[in-house]
Amino acid sequence: MRILVVEDEPTLQAQLAEALAAAGYVTDRADNGVDAHFLGDSEPYDAAILDLGLPRMDGLTVLRKWRAAGRTMPVLILTARDSWHEKVAGIDAGADDYLAKPFHMEELLARLRALIRRAGGHASAEIACGPLVLDTRQGRAMLDGQTLTLTSHEFRVLSYLMHHQGEAISRSDLVEHIYAQDFDRDSNTVEVFIARLRKKLPPGMIETVRGLGYRLRAQDRP
Ligand code: CA
Repeated sequence: MRILVVEDEPTLQAQLAEALAAAGYVTDRADNGVDAHFLGDSEPYDAAILDLGLPRMDGLTVLRKWRAAGRTMPVLILTARDSWHEKVAGIDAGADDYLAKPFHMEELLARLRALIRRAGGHASAEIACGPLVLDTRQGRAMLDGQTLTLTSHEFRVLSYLMHHQGEAISRSDLVEHIYAQDFDRDSNTVEVFIARLRKKLPPGMIETVRGLGYRLRAQDRP
């Protein structure tokens, strides 16, 4: 899952990026509204964390422009403490949730997980696909109750497929959601991750959809 982090305070931005990386997300970062608007408008993020008080273009304007352009990714806004009117304005502008500063990183991560799950149509913290269960709180996947040993890239690929199970996902979709923008991307590596995941999963769970990509689905087992 790939997250856009928009925050102009360098310390907080670094803390957010570090906490998100530790939780298994990849992040792109912006420290002003103009860059934030451009990135959110042109890159396919799974969610955005958006500070409202930003140089060059304020966060509310950024959010309104994204929504006006049809960008539907979940957006969690960061508001000033005790500023109820900011929260109201933010939600009216299209925010999905808000947190007032200062906040606990654990709460931010929990809200972010919930936003991403709901965007994929999953209400519960555990997403199941047949014998496979993704525990979004612990950042792990289990097969028949046994935790799978996965590299961070394998986990990101599997997590994205689990959130979008039953859908055909192209290699380029996967690349865009498992790497940050400044990463040297190579779509061939996706095939490697898929091959490794297939060895760890029941046969046929990750289908190849000719000309489209891959699809994760529960197999009927005897
Ligand atoms: Ca700010």
